[in-house]
Amino acid sequence: MLLDLSGKKALVTGIANNRSIAWGIARQLHLAGAELGVTYLPDEKGRFEAKVRELTAPLNPGLFLPMDVQNPDQMQAVFQQLESQWGQLDILVHCLAFANKADLAGDFSATTAQGFRTALEISAYSLTSLCHLAKPLFSQGASVITLTYLGSERAVPNYNVMGLAKAALEASVRYLAAELGPEKQVRVNAISAGPIRTLASSAVGGILEMIHHVEEKAPLRRTVTQQEVGNTAAFLASPLASGISGQVLYVDGGYCITGL
Ligand code: NDP
Repeated sequence: MLLDLSGKKALVTGIANNRSIAWGIARQLHLAGAELGVTYLPDEKGRFEAKVRELTAPLNPGLFLPMDVQNPDQMQAVFQQLESQWGQLDILVHCLAFANKADLAGDFSATTAQGFRTALEISAYSLTSLCHLAKPLFSQGASVITLTYLGSERAVPNYNVMGLAKAALEASVRYLAAELGPEKQVRVNAISAGPIRTLASSAVGGILEMIHHVEEKAPLRRTVTQQEVGNTAAFLASPLASGISGQVLYVDGGYCITGL
């Protein structure tokens, strides 16, 4: 098989349900032969855990752990477990974001300091802290993949503070790539996905209009699927992408090249 990830250990964050982009990525990594570790955002009643456990069971994750990226103890526990069970990490998928709903519509200038901090901490800083924890465990040629969106570089209606978080995330990709490349050839890249209906995107005001706009204007005249993003992640995780690092790769049906 040209794209073969067998024997690779992959930690996938950000699966909430079967619409999650992280779910599309997990499935394609599994199909390519990778062994999966899955983290979920815990809630008090354990509902998210039960849901994600049931969804991911067919992929037989070797690790299944709670991880709120605002909880340093939980993050540390994940990497301790990973070290004792796997001893190394080949693929790290950062596929999570959050901003207060009030900050994802209306006037951007109304963003509060608290809303700014929350969005930037969860959606951007978490990639840096995950890479710091993973650094001693990264194998030779390991691959880090995160998810971003065009709102980082254009003023997309309602994306507001999340656009700033994605700009910071993309800058982090470059700094992390520069840091992690020399010693062990670790590559860090972002996939900039076109709009897809998910739990997170439904919080962004006017997301359906944005999807329709893409369907009308993108060169491919459609939006993309979780599976297409997953295929790109599998490629980036594989030796086929061994020369690619510090990049933002657009998986958006070509929308970003249009003048609209
Ligand atoms: P989902 O809602 O399915 O995924 C977002 C994930 O982030 C959820 O699993 C959510 O957990 C998790 N999360 C939120 N806060 C935290 C936290 N503090 N700690 C750990 N996890 C947390 O939406 P998507 O699949 O759309 O989002 C995945 C990524 O893709 C995000 O970075 C998003 O910005 C990006 N993206 C999405 C696009 C889209 O149109 N959908 C387009 C381009 C990029 P829970 O749901 O349990 O709260």
